[in-house]
Amino acid sequence: MRTDRSKQLFDAARARIPGGVNSPVRAFGRVGGQPLFVTRAEGVTIWDADGNAYMDFVGSWGPMFLGHDHPAIRDAVADQLARGTSYGAPTEAEVELAERVCDMVPSIDMVRLTSSGTEATMSALRLARAFTGRDAFVKFRGGYHGHGDAFLVEAGSGAATLGVPNSPGVTSGAARDTRVAEFNDLDSVRALAAEGDVAAVFVEPVAGNMGCVPPEDGFLEGLRALCDETGALLVFDEVMTGFRLAPGGAQERYGVTPDLTTLGKIIGGGLPVGAFGGRADVMAMVAPSGPVYQAGTLSGNPLATAAGNAMLRWIAEHPEIYDHVEALGRRMDEAFERMIDENGWPVTWRRVGAMGSLFFGPGPIRDWPTVEACSVDRFAAWFSRMLEAGFYMAPSPFEASFLSAAHTEENIARFLDAAERTLAEVHATDRPAEVRA
Ligand SMILES: *Cc1c(COP(=O)(O)O)cnc(C)c1O
Repeated sequence: MRTDRSKQLFDAARARIPGGVNSPVRAFGRVGGQPLFVTRAEGVTIWDADGNAYMDFVGSWGPMFLGHDHPAIRDAVADQLARGTSYGAPTEAEVELAERVCDMVPSIDMVRLTSSGTEATMSALRLARAFTGRDAFVKFRGGYHGHGDAFLVEAGSGAATLGVPNSPGVTSGAARDTRVAEFNDLDSVRALAAEGDVAAVFVEPVAGNMGCVPPEDGFLEGLRALCDETGALLVFDEVMTGFRLAPGGAQERYGVTPDLTTLGKIIGGGLPVGAFGGRADVMAMVAPSGPVYQAGTLSGNPLATAAGNAMLRWIAEHPEIYDHVEALGRRMDEAFERMIDENGWPVTWRRVGAMGSLFFGPGPIRDWPTVEACSVDRFAAWFSRMLEAGFYMAPSPFEASFLSAAHTEENIARFLDAAERTLAEVHATDRPAEVRA
C-alpha cells in the first residue's frame, strides 16, 4: 500500500497543527501508523491522498448514517448554498428541524440547536444545575460527553466521591462537583446520589466511547427511578445513539424517558449540528425565555440546518433502513460468535443496532474496568491488518464502529472474510506449538 502522500501531509500537518490533527483520536495514537488523509468519500468508500480505497466503518465518527455523499443531503446543502451560508437570524428551516426533533425523540418538547455535541452537553449541564439549584452531577467512568471541563473527570478510585481532572488545565474547582459512577452498576450511582444534592445523572444510554457497551436489563430503568427519588434530572447523552438505534434514539429503543437529551452527529447529516432538549418546564429556563445563558454565532446555521433536515426527513420517510442495518448487524453477530467459538479466541463482539465493537478480551464486557482489561496491542495489530486489507475501522479500542444504510450484504460478507483471516493472524502465536504445526 502506498502511503507517500499521506506521510508528507502528516509531516506538514504536525508542523502547524498540534499532533497534526484537529481532534486527537484521528492521529492513530492508539494503533500506530499514520492517519489517512482523506480526499473523497462516496457511499461506504473513502479514498486517501495516495488513491487507496477503504470500506468505511467510521462514518466521520458517527454522522454519516446514510453513507457518504447522500444525494438528498447533497442537494439540500447545494440548494441552501445558493441562498447564502449564514444570517445570524431565525429561519424557517430551524423551525422545521426543531419540529422534526420533537416529533421523533419521545422526551423532547422543546429543543435548542448548537454547533457540536460538546456545546449541547455543557449547556444541558448548566441548565440542569440551574433548574435544580444543585451543583453536583454524576457521570460514568468511560462515558464521554465532549470536552467541557466538568466532564473531563474520572474517579481517582471507585470510592472517591470528589472528581479528579484527567486533563491538565481543568481546575480542581471545575472537577469538584463531578461524581463518577460505574456503568451498569446502579449501587454505585445510588451511593453518589444519596445526599440529594445531585443536579443530574449524565449517561450514554448505550455506552459508545469505551467501545460499544449495552446497558444491562433494568439499568436505565433504575437510573430513571433513582432520579425520580432524588430529584436529579436524568440526561441521556444521545449524541452517538440519537437517530441511530431507532428514529427516536436509545430512549425509544429501551422505552426509558429522560428529562433532557443531548444530540449531535447524525442530526447534522455531516455538517456541524448539536442540540439539547427535553421537558418544556426545564427548557423554558433557557435564555431568552428564561435566565440560563446559552448562545452561538453559528447555531442554527442555514447550511447545517439544511443538511440536518434532509437527514431527518430521509430517516423518517425510510424506516426500513433500521431493519436493514439490524439485519447486517445480526449477520455480524452470528459470524463473530461462530469464529470466536470455533477458534477459542479471547475476543468479545458487542453490538446494538448500527454500532458495535470488537474487544480483545474474553469478556464479559460490561463497564470501564472490563474494557480496560482488554488488549490494546492486539486491537492495534488487528486494526492495522484490516486497514491494509482495505477496511477502515475506528482507530481505537475505545471507540465504536458504525454500520450505515449504505452498507450491503455483500460488503459485510467481504468484511467478515477479512475479519476472520486477520483475527486468525493476530492470534496465530497464541496456540500451542503442536496445534500450530
Ligand atoms: C461525540 C460525542 C460527544 C461530543 O460531540 P462533539 O460534536 O464531538 O463535540 C458527546 N457525547 C457523546 C456521547 C459523543 O459520542
